Amino acid sequence: METAARRGALAVAARAVARRLNADHTDPAGPTLPCRCGHTAHYAGRKAKTVLTALGELRLERAYYPCNACRSGFCPRDRVLGVDGVSLSPAVTRMVGTAAARVSFAEGSALLGALAGLPVNAKQVERTAEALGREIAADEQQQVVPAEEAESAPPLYLGMDGTGVPMRKEEVEGRPGTQADGSAKTREVKRCTVWSAEGRDTDATCSAFARRVEREARRRGVDRANRRAVLGDGAPWIWNIAGEYFPAAIQIVDRFHAKAHLSGVAKVIYGATSDLGAAWAKARHDELDAGQLHKIVAALATHSRSCPDASKRDEIRKCIGYVWGNRRRMRYPAFRAQGLCTSTAVVEAGCKVAIGTRLKRAGMHWTVRGANAIIALRCSKLSGRFEDFWERRAQSRVAS
Ligand SMILES: [Zn+2]
Repeated sequence: METAARRGALAVAARAVARRLNADHTDPAGPTLPCRCGHTAHYAGRKAKTVLTALGELRLERAYYPCNACRSGFCPRDRVLGVDGVSLSPAVTRMVGTAAARVSFAEGSALLGALAGLPVNAKQVERTAEALGREIAADEQQQVVPAEEAESAPPLYLGMDGTGVPMRKEEVEGRPGTQADGSAKTREVKRCTVWSAEGRDTDATCSAFARRVEREARRRGVDRANRRAVLGDGAPWIWNIAGEYFPAAIQIVDRFHAKAHLSGVAKVIYGATSDLGAAWAKARHDELDAGQLHKIVAALATHSRSCPDASKRDEIRKCIGYVWGNRRRMRYPAFRAQGLCTSTAVVEAGCKVAIGTRLKRAGMHWTVRGANAIIALRCSKLSGRFEDFWERRAQSRVAS
């Protein structure tokens, strides 16, 4: 009964809104208007179009200006209402964005039907969400307003890492990867999570990515933080960005990653299931926590000398390089004494939340264009900027 009543009430409301909009004939702005192609379009009476709104379908009649030169046409009213070239109203577009940021396009379509009673098929959800994501990505590049004073509680952390997103075949053709035959199945999404000790927030391409990190840091009040720290897994690009954009920031290799690295080498040395390997790794972890990096390097060097397998020796030497090369970034006792966070659990969690749960689900294969758009959409939601975006979007429409 309630569902039927809602349907009925919405239908009444939809008719009332349609009547009001269709009674307003102020939209023909003269017999001719300039077309986007540069030629002149001539008024040709009113034309009807069906738009899906939060109230259901609306039949809109609006002044139509066809252009003979480019064989297309436009309606000034559509631009005012935000339905130019699309059949979904802004409110429905926003619902689509909310759903598609969280779940797959097919699931989003099902949710819109079940919760809002709106028939939007999966393909339409995909097209609409990707167009919206591109709009949000463009908007994000324009908006660098620093956070309110109170929001930037120092120290401010910048945690960076990368994660592979499964791609469609054509997107990875000819690209080197980690598959057995040397091919690639994924492409890397670089991420930066900006957080302070009190609160945290997530946000998600190399120079474009560096500029994105810088914008986000400015928004979060990086200039006012009394201490800055960049946390990473040890990938060189992270330190390059840190050195270039945040030279004063303390660089820290995520302790969790450093330990995972040592555990990995333990498996190389002792085999994947050896209890000796586990004990060896535990001893190295303790040395790491205690800041005894020279002991770790000594233990690794012993194995690299005695190991008969050349490829294993190579792995061990790489690990020595990792530890020694990052020694200044692994002074954990000193960092702890300064009250600094030394683990990127926040980044890891952020990576999973921002990318994994939406883009790396079973059977998903992305185009670069599609993945970029949906990541922008999802990060806008997760960073609490979705509402601001819609406010700006509505304002820009009023202004035009
Ligand atoms: Zn034209």
